[in-house]
Amino acid sequence: MAGIVRRRTRTVRVGQLLIGGDSPIVVQSMTNTDTVDVVRTAVQCAELARAGSELVRITVNTPEAAAAVVPICERLARMGVEVPLIGDFHYNGHRLLAEYPGCARALAKYRINPGNVGHGRKRDEQFVQMIETACRYDKPVRIGVNWGSLDQDLLARIMDANARRPEPREAGEVLREALVVSALESAARAEEIGLAGDRIVLSCKVSGVQDLIAIYRELARRCDYPLHLGLTEAGMGSKGIVASTAAMAVLLQEGIGDTIRVSLTPEPGGSRTQEVIVAQEMLQTMGLRAFAPLVVACPGCGRTTSSFFQELAQSIQEYVRERMTSWRTDYDGVENMTVAVMGCVVNGPGESKHANIGISLPGTGEAPVAPVFEDGVKTVTLRGKGIADEFTAIVDAYVQRTYQRKRTGR
Ligand code: SF4
Repeated sequence: MAGIVRRRTRTVRVGQLLIGGDSPIVVQSMTNTDTVDVVRTAVQCAELARAGSELVRITVNTPEAAAAVVPICERLARMGVEVPLIGDFHYNGHRLLAEYPGCARALAKYRINPGNVGHGRKRDEQFVQMIETACRYDKPVRIGVNWGSLDQDLLARIMDANARRPEPREAGEVLREALVVSALESAARAEEIGLAGDRIVLSCKVSGVQDLIAIYRELARRCDYPLHLGLTEAGMGSKGIVASTAAMAVLLQEGIGDTIRVSLTPEPGGSRTQEVIVAQEMLQTMGLRAFAPLVVACPGCGRTTSSFFQELAQSIQEYVRERMTSWRTDYDGVENMTVAVMGCVVNGPGESKHANIGISLPGTGEAPVAPVFEDGVKTVTLRGKGIADEFTAIVDAYVQRTYQRKRTGR
């Protein structure tokens, strides 16, 4: 973590996992299935967990959804998947947690949005009920404020106070302050009710990059609860990835953020696991964690007129992700490996030498040979139609030779 000093926070335990303190930044995600559909929800939780999501959040919005939580957990256990599930509650969480004790017990953490707990006196009563349930079952809580559902009474109070100032602050600043105050006051209230400070995680999600950065800097300054980072409604495809990364990378670089979620809208038919891969790649490319070998590929240019170079880069990327499931179990440190796939001799040999293992493909007009470098030394030159298969076999052999075999007891 060169150059990055993590902000000091309390440590919150969620199941066997720790968030905050000296623990690695945790990747989490959320299902988009109907929770009532036990099979589809369990299958998606398993997919997300296998992709690397260390916590998975599910919507618990109706009695039927609350009743489905225990069967989902049981099905996951039968599938051999151990991932803590977080229940996402809005409006009726107090009732669902009270009426479905199995659900309250089975979930590893509750997410409570203080803007969606109720209004006036009811708001306080229902918030108390939810926090008391968390205390009873010893569950941590994320107090998750979202600007789409900010507590309107609190916003009005802060706006009134602002209007009385000799020099009122501009509206955006007041809104940001209201979000921060909503999170901090709710956390203070939860502690008053009896929830320990080390059972609380905070988030304040907005959809604007600069707003998110400003809000989290302020939250980080004013408390020591672990922070869940995420840009809400980030969007689809490259826009969602760029916006999330632009916002979160600035904060992570400043040591702010203990668990992250990348809220991507999947393309129609696209996999929900993309948000997990993006979160992992964000942390890994910043040097904060390592999850899977990184494939370095040049962008290609007029020297790579055939599609072979792109195809090889893609197949290697997919191959290492697929193999990682067993490599992770069998080999220590393999996640730190880098593989370079380069398009021609201009930067190819140089970049390949810097990677653990690299291949420099022939560019247009170059001799149809592909030198392979392992730990900076040219070991073989591939030619002909079998380059892709031979290269993946070389990567496999390199992993077996280089990374220490774990004691698996098998
Ligand atoms: S390494 Fe070669 S093919 Fe790749 S971008 Fe550079 S010049 Fe183009």
